[in-house]
Amino acid sequence: MRGLIGKRVLVSGGSSGIGLAAARRFLEEGCRVFVSGLDPTEVERAVNELRPHGDVAGGAFDVSRESDVAALMAAAVRELGAVDVLANNAGIAWREPFLEITPEHFDKMLAVNLRGMFLVGQAVGRHLVARGAAGVIVNMSSTNGIAGEEDYAHYNASKGGVLLLGKTMAVELGRHGIRVNTLCPGYIRTPLNASIAGAMTDGDFETDYIKDRIPLGRAGLAEDVAAAYAFLASDDASFVHGAELVIDGGQLAVM
Ligand code: NAP
Repeated sequence: MRGLIGKRVLVSGGSSGIGLAAARRFLEEGCRVFVSGLDPTEVERAVNELRPHGDVAGGAFDVSRESDVAALMAAAVRELGAVDVLANNAGIAWREPFLEITPEHFDKMLAVNLRGMFLVGQAVGRHLVARGAAGVIVNMSSTNGIAGEEDYAHYNASKGGVLLLGKTMAVELGRHGIRVNTLCPGYIRTPLNASIAGAMTDGDFETDYIKDRIPLGRAGLAEDVAAAYAFLASDDASFVHGAELVIDGGQLAVM
């Protein structure tokens, strides 16, 4: 992809799944990368796994906590010198019927998936504007931010919020030369989905899900989404702004 060599990329939630694949892709494109996650052991494992692919560092910070996000930003700037690209990726999910969701569970989902996206996006936005630098922010929503999959009311609400957060960021940050776009993946095979599928007791969850819902007939891979992160961060997407990119094997096209 054009224009990525030497870019300094912060990948939140870069210790696992899609974020880990994105960090690797950015390294392969010649970027320098800082990955963050919640669990320090996981972050260390990810940094060790990524090191053969390029210049990478990382740290553990909770994206839902303001003080952690300030520390995350400081650590990324200390390691990279500055941040040019944010893959605003950290998130959580679990299934729960709407009628059973407690206010505490609702708050937890929103705190990580929406508040966290806001806090990290704002920190990087302020950093870019203060430097007078052009930059790119790619927020992580989901097909669940566009349509209402059952048993995910809290997750769907958080991801729908991310979509409009991203559009508003695009409206306000475009004048500073900062491009903002949003990814909407469908079913991607990651540790997150493995844990959700593992909690299901009826049949082969993934096989049935793919057969019923995904026209391309396979699960998405973390690398499919990593490629979309790289495209949106690159100069090949220089006029793509305020948009959402769906990566779902055709799932949203099914009636
Ligand atoms: P994953 O493998 O579970 O990775 C989630 C990442 O987020 C991990 O690095 C995790 O760190 C980090 N994280 C979780 N809570 C955090 C917190 N409070 N503070 C900081 N970091 C935190 O999940 P994934 O499937 O790759 O999902 C990544 C993103 O894609 C999420 O936003 C998810 O909603 C979105 N997405 C996924 C799919 C899918 O089908 N998998 C589809 C659409 C959208 P630790 O490992 O240290 O906990």
